[in-house]
Amino acid sequence: VSQDKIRNFSIIAHIDHGKSTLADRLIEKTGMLEKRELKEQVLDSMDLERERGITIKLKAVRLIYKAEDGEEYILNLIDTPGHVDFNYEVSRSLAACEGAVLVVDSTQGVEAQTLANLYLALEQDLEILPVLNKIDLPSSDVEYVKSEIENTCGLDTEGIPLVSAKSGLNIEDVLEDIVYNVPHPVGDVSKPLKALIFDSYYDSYKGVICFIRVFEGKVKTGTNIYMMNTKKEFEVTEVGYVQNERIQSKEITAGDVGYICASIKNVRDARVGDTITEVENKTEHALPGYKKVTPMVYCGIYPAEGEEFTQVREALEKLQVNDASLVFEPETSQALGYGFRCGFLGLLHMEIIQERLDREFDLNIIATAPSVIYEVMKNDGTFLEIQNPSNLPPATEIDYMKEPMVACEIMTPKTYVGPIMEICQNKRGVFENMEYLDEKRVTIHYLMPLNEVIYDFFDTLKSKTQGYASLDYDLKGYQESDLVKMDILINGELVDAFSLIVHREKAAQRARTIVEKLKKEIPRQQFAIPIQAAIGSKIIARETVSALRKDVLAKCYGGDISRKKKLLEKQKEGKKRMRQIGNVEVPQNAFLAVLKYD
Ligand code: GDP
Ligand code: MG
Repeated sequence: VSQDKIRNFSIIAHIDHGKSTLADRLIEKTGMLEKRELKEQVLDSMDLERERGITIKLKAVRLIYKAEDGEEYILNLIDTPGHVDFNYEVSRSLAACEGAVLVVDSTQGVEAQTLANLYLALEQDLEILPVLNKIDLPSSDVEYVKSEIENTCGLDTEGIPLVSAKSGLNIEDVLEDIVYNVPHPVGDVSKPLKALIFDSYYDSYKGVICFIRVFEGKVKTGTNIYMMNTKKEFEVTEVGYVQNERIQSKEITAGDVGYICASIKNVRDARVGDTITEVENKTEHALPGYKKVTPMVYCGIYPAEGEEFTQVREALEKLQVNDASLVFEPETSQALGYGFRCGFLGLLHMEIIQERLDREFDLNIIATAPSVIYEVMKNDGTFLEIQNPSNLPPATEIDYMKEPMVACEIMTPKTYVGPIMEICQNKRGVFENMEYLDEKRVTIHYLMPLNEVIYDFFDTLKSKTQGYASLDYDLKGYQESDLVKMDILINGELVDAFSLIVHREKAAQRARTIVEKLKKEIPRQQFAIPIQAAIGSKIIARETVSALRKDVLAKCYGGDISRKKKLLEKQKEGKKRMRQIGNVEVPQNAFLAVLKYD
């Protein structure tokens, strides 16, 4: 195909504005899939993603569209993930396109992620095609949202498609818009191969499958390829594109999008953002924008009682083959034994991995409280980066500590400005500025410690604003901060898995919450169990789980035989989810209770 018949585009939107639904309709209208097949279609293919309504893995689908001008066009639809944790992947898939369809829910209007995604698309110089969705709903306000798109996005809304992705109304308008307004690719086929990896995933039969956009030259089976950033070499075993399934083709040439396989065993060797060229005929410069993503949030993952360390390791290894941003290394905890310190892009990424360990590997795990990376300068001039609170040197050896900061952008109807500022202030946020977007809506900018943002900030924001506020954040370097290590002692014994690094002013409040929660979670035993929170040797909060009275036990065990049996069985069941700490049995839920912060 000649390049003037190709259109490479993405769909971008705020979450829930209808991106996936619109993608389904475009696929359906171009005759790629039957309606009933759509449930299991290529986009959003992971269960977890569907349930959470988010797209984690990006993929590319080829649509063949016969336009009103009678010509046939190849529309390569490149899907992008929808959550801040995955912004880098979004930027790489946008780099594979010439245009982006910006879906705006006409009942909600422009929200934080609408703008955040728009900025990402503009950074890649994409042609932006706004689309108003959900016009079937009575609360749809087309004129208002149009003016919002003009004023806050600076986009022309003349002739903007007004669609219902749900019912399929006016979907052709979107297709025609793409054909006429997305520029076609221009790349020199005679030059050395230059292709961008915008997604890669592991397939147990073929090894890693790389989704690529070819900018110059061409690639086919047998090509010896060279990854310019990881510096690895492979021989291509298959090339093709995805229609309703993978279809092999002879080659992929400049301007086009497709996949390649090359017996690659791990996604780490085919990183998103890397440039592929030929071993024998290298292109001069790699494509810009490659970034080795670094984890923002860490936590310890330990096998629950009765689970094997090696099983957890195997599961993490399997997940990592498919997820280059998951990192882990073994660590030991006095309380929990052998486990792993794992790094994630953000809390959502962390939750997804924890859930996959449970669902796909049927493993019971205990996760410690999430932590960010702190910078520590010791009195003797040594510099440390700490992500496990247990590794923090004693306070007397520390000169100063720094914590990572993020620039938060919160978009909200102006009626919620008060409550939002209160939440941010509470989380040690520093107000930067506020802009009026129009008469109803504002954007508030705060500089906040990442440490505070990872705990329930987003949820609090949503609940205090009935879901109207939206959040976007970006790492903004490190800042000196008065941080302390808080320990939890159960029956006088320090449980390292509960240790946290907190801001000194927050310590007392946090300590109270935790000891109160633990008191509720730890069952009464035959002796009283003190639960204490301490900074160094100073106790800052205390609760006691009182002892069971002897006669209660006696009554229990004195009863009839079947009741006794039942009780023993119940205890056995319960044991599985307990961890023995000193002579106290701590249920798994106690660890979760420390994680959640309310
Ligand atoms: P995404 O998060 O942007 O991918 O949004 P989805 O495509 O998952 O849509 C979010 C919700 O909005 C789903 O419940 C859809 O059924 C619904 N939805 C999407 N488009 C329309 C539409 O045009 N009209 C109506 N009424 N609902 C829609
Ligand atoms: Mg979606």
